Amino acid sequence: MTPTHCPNCKCKYFTPENDDNWYFHYGYYETKTFGRVPRFKCRSCGKTFSSQTFSIDYYAKKKVFYPYLLDQLFSCSGNRDIARKFGIRDSVVQNRIERLSRWAQGFHNLMLKQLPLDESLAADGFESFSYSQYYPNNINIIAGRDSQFLYSTGLSILRRKGKMTNAQKKRRAELEQQGKASSSMTYSSMKNLGDGLANLLINKEIGNALLWTDEHRSYSGAFRSQGVFQHLRVSSKKARTFKNPLFAVNYLDRQFRKDLSDHTRETVQFAHHPACMMNRLILYRHFHNYIKPYRIKEQKENRMPKSTHGEEAGLDKDYLLEMKTQLEGKRFFYSKLDLDREEMQTWMQGWKNPGLNSTRYVPKYITV
Ligand SMILES: [Zn+2]
Repeated sequence: MTPTHCPNCKCKYFTPENDDNWYFHYGYYETKTFGRVPRFKCRSCGKTFSSQTFSIDYYAKKKVFYPYLLDQLFSCSGNRDIARKFGIRDSVVQNRIERLSRWAQGFHNLMLKQLPLDESLAADGFESFSYSQYYPNNINIIAGRDSQFLYSTGLSILRRKGKMTNAQKKRRAELEQQGKASSSMTYSSMKNLGDGLANLLINKEIGNALLWTDEHRSYSGAFRSQGVFQHLRVSSKKARTFKNPLFAVNYLDRQFRKDLSDHTRETVQFAHHPACMMNRLILYRHFHNYIKPYRIKEQKENRMPKSTHGEEAGLDKDYLLEMKTQLEGKRFFYSKLDLDREEMQTWMQGWKNPGLNSTRYVPKYITV
């Protein structure tokens, strides 16, 4: 293993340019799980580090087979089921989901730079909840109209609405004493996604993109100021067929309900925390974009060659395969990525239900 940069984000070798003389070998240490691990030292800042510093398993004491974990997550297994199957504690399962989710965010961020983004887009919010039905939320997404590639994901926590008994109304009032969901969260989440999309389009010098949504009252304000793409609206009552400009988001809505145990109707495996829910969703995005074949059924019928949603959106097959191999098991550094505000929040485990004191532990190294 050859280190490619110094892990200290304040060091000039955090981004070394064609200079492989910036570090020297600094012995080894023995570990039970990973065997003999080589150590290095930076010539500039003096920081010592090891090959594990660049691994998805940095600081981990137990090896978990990640592809199998991913597979389990999308066959509707809850964390406890997975823990039983792996013979590990559920806290370890949760920790590995978080590691894999950050990895998938890093991978997606690199792929976004490669994608041509030459298709129309559709945005919508997917209704779910975490912790209890008193904490509903919208998972906000932007997808490719033709490719069904999932470009961006964000979250807004909402106030419980709809039909409620008097007892439920009373309970909601009690809970809202501790904290109440802001009515502008859908606006700000969609605006963050719109800003992220605008940045991508500006970098690719695309000035004529179209973004379709339904007539939700927050959307026109959220997408007004970007100016880089045109925002078009269609009634949500229009038939949900393939021809509907919102087909991609309607399709993804159905897939989330079908494949993710925390969003199945009347589920008992609902997410206990919005941050955990978003980690699972990021992993699903990775599975949907880069692993699962594009619309399997049609491919079978037409005998088309299998491709992923990423390739449908314009990624080169060989490039995708090469990056998957090259980046497997690697750790992504936050400061080297270019995440939009919603992704940053997911990376930092920052999502919270109002009034609940449930901050998630964030190891310091993930902020580097
Ligand atoms: Zn250094």
